Amino acid sequence: MAFEEEQKIFDSFVRDKGLKHSGQRKDILLTFLKTEKHLTADELHALVKKKNPAVGIATVYRTLRLLCECRLSSELRLGNGAVRYEHFYGHEHHDHLICVKCGNFIEVMDPEIEKLQERLAKKEDFRLQGHKLLMYGVCRKCKQ
Ligand SMILES: [Zn+2]
Ligand SMILES: [Zn+2]
Repeated sequence: MAFEEEQKIFDSFVRDKGLKHSGQRKDILLTFLKTEKHLTADELHALVKKKNPAVGIATVYRTLRLLCECRLSSELRLGNGAVRYEHFYGHEHHDHLICVKCGNFIEVMDPEIEKLQERLAKKEDFRLQGHKLLMYGVCRKCKQ
C-alpha cells in the first residue's frame, strides 16, 4: 500500500481526536501525498475532485488543518495572504526562495544560515523550536 506510514499516522491522529473515519479525508490525504508540490487548498481541491467529485472545499480546508496538526504537512503563509501546503513528515528541513513573477518555489538549505539563526536565538536567550525562512525575488528563468 502506498504511503502506509503516513496513513497510519493520520488514522491514529484522527482516532485520538474522536473523529470518524472518512473516505473523503482519505482521498484528500492520498492526493496530497502523491503531489510533491507547494499547493494551495484550491489547487488540492481541483486535484481531489478528479478522483472524487463529491469532495467540497470546506472538507479540503479541514483536512489540511488536520494534516498540519499531525505534522504530515506544513503550511507556508505568504506575504500576500496566500497559504500553501507542503509535505513535512519524512522531509528534510529546507527553506524557500519564491519567485514573485512565476510563483515558483525553490527549496534551499544552507547549514551556515541554520547555524546563524540558532546563534541569534541564543543571544536572546530564546529556545528555538523551528523557523520558516521565505525569501522573495526573481528566479533565473524570469530574469532572462
Ligand atoms: Zn532553515
Ligand atoms: Zn518546500
